[in-house]
Amino acid sequence: MSIPKHRRELGSSIRKLLESDPAFRPVAYMSMEIGIKESLPTYSGGLGILAGDILKSAADLGVPLIGLTLLYRKGYFQQSFNSEGWQTEKPVLWQPVQELTLLPNKVSLTLQGRDIQVGVWMHEIIGNTGYPLPVYFLDTDFDGNDTEDRKLTWHLYGGDEHYRLCQEMVLGVGGLRMLRDLGYNNLELFHMNEGHAGFISLELMREQGYYDPEKIKEQVIFTTHTPVPAGHDFFRFDLIERVLSHEALLNLKRMLPNSDGISMTELGIHFSRYVNAVSKKHAEVSRRMFDMPDIDWVTNGIHPGTWVGPGMRRLFDKHIPGWENDPGRLVQAVNLPSEDIWTAHQASKMRLLAAVMEQTGTQLDPDVLTIGFARRAAQYKRADLLFSNLKKLVDVAGGKIQIVFAGKAHPRDDGGKAVLQRLLASFEKIGAIIPTVFLENYDMEKGALITQGVDIWLNTPIRPREASGTSGMKCAINGVMNFSVLDGWWIEGWIEDVTGWSIGPAPSEQDMMNYDESLDAIDLYDKLEHKIIPTYYNDRDRWVWMMQRTIALNGSFFNTHRVIREYCEKAYSISFRGM
Ligand SMILES: *Cc1c(COP(=O)(O)O)cnc(C)c1O
Repeated sequence: MSIPKHRRELGSSIRKLLESDPAFRPVAYMSMEIGIKESLPTYSGGLGILAGDILKSAADLGVPLIGLTLLYRKGYFQQSFNSEGWQTEKPVLWQPVQELTLLPNKVSLTLQGRDIQVGVWMHEIIGNTGYPLPVYFLDTDFDGNDTEDRKLTWHLYGGDEHYRLCQEMVLGVGGLRMLRDLGYNNLELFHMNEGHAGFISLELMREQGYYDPEKIKEQVIFTTHTPVPAGHDFFRFDLIERVLSHEALLNLKRMLPNSDGISMTELGIHFSRYVNAVSKKHAEVSRRMFDMPDIDWVTNGIHPGTWVGPGMRRLFDKHIPGWENDPGRLVQAVNLPSEDIWTAHQASKMRLLAAVMEQTGTQLDPDVLTIGFARRAAQYKRADLLFSNLKKLVDVAGGKIQIVFAGKAHPRDDGGKAVLQRLLASFEKIGAIIPTVFLENYDMEKGALITQGVDIWLNTPIRPREASGTSGMKCAINGVMNFSVLDGWWIEGWIEDVTGWSIGPAPSEQDMMNYDESLDAIDLYDKLEHKIIPTYYNDRDRWVWMMQRTIALNGSFFNTHRVIREYCEKAYSISFRGM
């Protein structure tokens, strides 16, 4: 097939390889959100940033992935607070045309009996060895589409179930049609980052023209991210009937019989050849939840080049050549000169404190132990555990710590907003003794600033709800120790008094759903008082020794270069050549 000239110029070497090498097998990586940089506000948190980091590592390593997601013209919101401390949201004003290239391709899709034209924008991630990796953003906001349908690509996780079902049809069905229209005709491997793109199997079946589940399964890889049943999208058949064609409805009923609707996770699990969770613990939980013993795990990571601070990067470049594309070499970080590590860290800290000063007017002290906590304000993340006993906190840490917070609650999550409101109230109460700041609009830029510039990273989710977590990994590559509940990745990264500290009991089968949460708070205050504060102020050598181990043991492993290699071996059957 000949590709029009304008596409060839924009297109990547991937497409050229597709044409020239029949054995070449690219992988479409499909995700409801992809976070590449803060000026592309098409992500809300960890899921999207992981997707971006995976694609960036693939580009660095020359592994042929193709990103596919939706555009979100209204972005993931601008955060502010009213006088009661209640979060309010405004759309992000951004211009796709300044960030992306609109391609001429259009495909159509029928939802609710109406024809929708789906268009596409492209961004190329250029790997650090020059490999261009395309990311496609689907868009329905075009003249000619019904007003309602134009809005389908406005909001990330906005609207109701109906809106979401339509969006997921655009991603899964529209997405595959678009890939074909772009010229990826022999593309036959699709990696779904979470279940949102699950309708890809419906479209594969339509392409096939007959029902052969094995043939669909051969082409699909599924990564699950949600360890609780309520977190999975479920669409009842009566809703599906109102949106999809009768034929599609019958096909879905055939694919998941004995059900009164479609769970996107079940669809993903039953129609893929390889299913993985995102940490060892999460795999154990998922196997039980879905009664599927062969769910594998590939523990998440972060993209080294995106998240390492400039000072640390200079140090790594000098002492550990080649670390960026072979982060396993960071094991050598144990030999980095102690003074240089400390200086690089303090420089990151000064950068953070300057931003805090600019944005809040609060002057923090570079010589005071600084605790960071930045996350989506979902209730299970328990942002308020540190403040659950203010008297105790002031007793053990008054005058000895300062705290930097950030995080957005989902616009529809009043529980999360209430957590933020309580937090801000706690800050007012203790602010005179423990300086505490809240940085609004947590995004990738703030995430980098905070994870590089604090001294320890606090993480207090309710077990086993943190499938993996990635912000603590961003800290690790910067030599910032984790102080965390044993959940998600931290179970694998934790060595007490070496890479950081645990909070609360070791995870066991029994603590799956119910355990005494007050124990976590007691342990938190106890370790802060007896281990962390004394080490920071009285044993700087030991502290820096821990920073070295944190980079060497955790930075070397919890990165997306290693994740890509695992996917190549276990899921894609791509023999890994590297670049
Ligand atoms: C890294 C990051 C996340 C994900 O962090 P978790 O530890 O998985 O909660 C979310 N939002 C932003 C802006 C980030 O940079």
